[in-house]
Amino acid sequence: MNVTVFGTGYVGLVTGACLADVGHRVLCVDIDAGKVDRLNKGDVPIREPGLDALVARNLAAGTIAFSTDAAKGVAHADLLFIAVGTPPDEDGSADLQYVLSVAQTIGEAMTNRKVVAVKSTVPVGTSDKVGERIATVLAARQSTLQCDLVSNPEFLKEGAAVSDFLKPDRIIVGTASQRAREVMKELYEPFNRSNDRTLYMDVRSAELTKYAANAMLATKISFINEIANLAERLGADIEEVRRGIGADPRIGYHFIYPGMGYGGSCFPKDVQALGRTATDVGYDSPLIAAVEAVNNRQKHALFEKLATHFGGAAALKGKRIAVWGLAFKPNTDDMREAPARVFIEALWSAGAAATVFDPVAMDEMARIYGSRADLTFAADKYAALNGADALAICTEWQQFRAPDFAGMAERMPSRLIVDGRNIYSPERLSRDGWTYLSIGRAPAY
Ligand code: NAD
Repeated sequence: MNVTVFGTGYVGLVTGACLADVGHRVLCVDIDAGKVDRLNKGDVPIREPGLDALVARNLAAGTIAFSTDAAKGVAHADLLFIAVGTPPDEDGSADLQYVLSVAQTIGEAMTNRKVVAVKSTVPVGTSDKVGERIATVLAARQSTLQCDLVSNPEFLKEGAAVSDFLKPDRIIVGTASQRAREVMKELYEPFNRSNDRTLYMDVRSAELTKYAANAMLATKISFINEIANLAERLGADIEEVRRGIGADPRIGYHFIYPGMGYGGSCFPKDVQALGRTATDVGYDSPLIAAVEAVNNRQKHALFEKLATHFGGAAALKGKRIAVWGLAFKPNTDDMREAPARVFIEALWSAGAAATVFDPVAMDEMARIYGSRADLTFAADKYAALNGADALAICTEWQQFRAPDFAGMAERMPSRLIVDGRNIYSPERLSRDGWTYLSIGRAPAY
């Protein structure tokens, strides 16, 4: 099947590459000419396990190509995906200008009937707006052509995007068109061979499903962080509580890890946008607002522990703090809304310096903050510790889980760790003479 994907970000590129790999002929269109040039050379601008190989293989096979030519993209296929960004607007609602600009182009360039599938995360009613925009442009062209609209939200996780796409938990197809339904069924057939995981529904339910899923996951994170903060004040251990509640299959262990709050390009913006949607329809949603408020507070929790340890933020002036982990979660270089940023910016505001290490997000850190006197990039995780007054763990990368504590103590005689991800055992660190401050557990000395 010929397929065109508008947008070559995390979602568009992974969608395009995975569809190409099962044999569809994919053209990916982006307005960013630099990105398109790089991609045509096989240079993938984002870090995702397996993605480089997938793009290289399909470029070589001629099953994927990249272009800035939107009209060519519309002509290439009868199935057009919209996978462009939907960043938050000033008021927290999703900014639909990129989505609607693709709709405009489709209306201007189409010469036959198309299936238009919206993969971007968009507020309920947006697919209707896409349809209206295309219809308006067609009417101005005095064309009687038609479009079949689909809401096909994406559930892949950054860091495991390729495997999530290849083995989806579910594929949501929201459409009122039987024709579109058949096209989508054929498209996803290779991913559904042993077990058809596609759920067909109406367009609005599909759009809301995406927000409900992200808001539910964000709620779990804010909930456990709320309980962690209570545990600290009550002399309980959140890790014991987590195990205790997760054992109930109605609750389960997923997404109940206490930490520094959720970040990334999706949860913060999608929770905000859902809150905005509720306001727009005159519905007061205290739960959604609380999920966001708890998260914003949690992002400061680690800095507050560090500051309290030294007797207040002012006492951090002139200190050097080693930071392990910059990405908002492991296996990605994405630092959008990363809790590490809030922590490091608070250090800087207090007059402290940061020496940072992340296995893949160092370039992204340099891109965001440039070079500054109070930021040092360490060659490896141990080098970050030289002369540091404390180590802060901000991302739970696998390679941080079992370090050489004895060697670390030699580089950092202060033996102080503040851990925003609870990856170590307080008993073990206390036995080795460390001071260890983590989330929702008593400090270990
Ligand atoms: P992104 O910011 O990484 O990429 C968006 C791309 O769209 C950019 O390359 C941009 O240049 C391009 N673009 C903008 N306008 C365009 C146009 N008119 N024509 C062609 N290309 C255009 O975004 P992303 O992370 O891939 O997210 C895309 C959508 O998918 C968002 O709505 C997001 O909420 C949703 N989503 C993201 C994830 C994730 O993990 N990143 C997961 C599920 C859903």
